[in-house]
Amino acid sequence: MADTRAPTFAFPNKKRSTSTDDDDRAVAKKSTFSWTVDPATALANARHEFGEHGGVNMSIEASATFTVMEPETMRRMFAGELGPDRDFFIYSRHFNPTVLNLGRQMAALEGTEAAYCTASGMSAISSVLLQLCSSGGHVVASRSLYGGTHSLFMHFLPRACNITTTFVDIKDSEMVKNAMVQGKTKVLYVESMSNPTLAVANIPELSSLARDKGVTLVVDNTFAPMVLSPARLGADVVIHSISKFISGGADIIAGAVCGPAKLVNSMMDMHQGALMLLGPTMNPKVAFELSERIPHLGLRMKEHCKRALVFATRLKKLGMKVVYPGLEDHPDHELLKSIANEDYGYGGLMCIDMETEERANRLMNQLQNYAQFGFMAVSLGYYETLMSCSGSSTSSEMSEEEKALAGISPGLVRMSIGYIGTLEHKWAQLEKAITRLKNN
Ligand SMILES: *Cc1c(COP(=O)(O)O)cnc(C)c1O
Repeated sequence: MADTRAPTFAFPNKKRSTSTDDDDRAVAKKSTFSWTVDPATALANARHEFGEHGGVNMSIEASATFTVMEPETMRRMFAGELGPDRDFFIYSRHFNPTVLNLGRQMAALEGTEAAYCTASGMSAISSVLLQLCSSGGHVVASRSLYGGTHSLFMHFLPRACNITTTFVDIKDSEMVKNAMVQGKTKVLYVESMSNPTLAVANIPELSSLARDKGVTLVVDNTFAPMVLSPARLGADVVIHSISKFISGGADIIAGAVCGPAKLVNSMMDMHQGALMLLGPTMNPKVAFELSERIPHLGLRMKEHCKRALVFATRLKKLGMKVVYPGLEDHPDHELLKSIANEDYGYGGLMCIDMETEERANRLMNQLQNYAQFGFMAVSLGYYETLMSCSGSSTSSEMSEEEKALAGISPGLVRMSIGYIGTLEHKWAQLEKAITRLKNN
């Protein structure tokens, strides 16, 4: 991994205040990063960026390129002597001030030293993997992963870069330990709450297994922002698909890499950086939109989680086969309780196992077209409930055998529970569809 010359780039804490480039501004201090337990508190304590004219919101820096006052400054910027930590910007595929501000919010949310945002969750994942692994590198990954990530590791990385992956059951610590080869394995990759089975990763344990072997633990926290804080539990790098809960609008594709400043800066290195050179850049206008949504992420998560718990509990009482880590009968209930942040609940997704795809489709049809409970669509984190049959949609890249190993039944209906309407109104719709299904 390339080292950068200025390790504080991704964590700027100094504003430009004069009109010339060459004064004696203090060099940004090494980050005084400290973890506040609750992510909402950390977000509230993060630097608030005001607009250019004193606006309560930051301005959008829509420029692709940036000018300097003196010619010498350009040389110093390219030499790495002047950077975003002192408000010197070169070009927006490198650092952009508005995207950097969103990154600052993401770092606060996840309790990492730094973060930078990307054009999609997949580009965040692929860039991190390419930054941490060289050709011939080895990854150990959970068997139960988002379909796109699974295909990236299974098919694309071995073909394009000779990076190979051993898939393991992350509940089996012996298997995880044995799969990691000291010196060869670079990354242990898991999802904090797995798609779609909602198994919870024992991050403290995985972190110590990885550390013993000198392996970097990368955790995709897309399913559980606010609920889980993987970095606090020992993860080295946290990835997000911002397209889901963090956006909340089902209108934007975006991602983030949260981790040590050293890693984030290395990804921006002019000669060796995966983000700088592959270029999955976030548009600053999109970064601005997203930055307006993060302050109410906590409120939204609480309502997603609250409704998921109520619906899961009531469905179970009706005799349905429900998978939800908030239920005591879920195998990871106690684990989740012991590692989750307080007061957010147990996640906004739940699954109903209808056993066959035919029954799963009948249920979704009733829910959407008869009861108006939600929409048949992939993705998650929207204010409306979204539902999909995982085996034939988001996990369809996996073979039957891989699906069976990952615990994905052909009739598993994944639901991302929305918060629109009142809880009782939505429950009445859900119950109506179930009743009709039973009577048909
Ligand atoms: C959606 C998703 C991704 C991919 O993110 P995009 O923003 O769609 O590129 C990765 N991981 C998980 C868990 C996801 O749900």
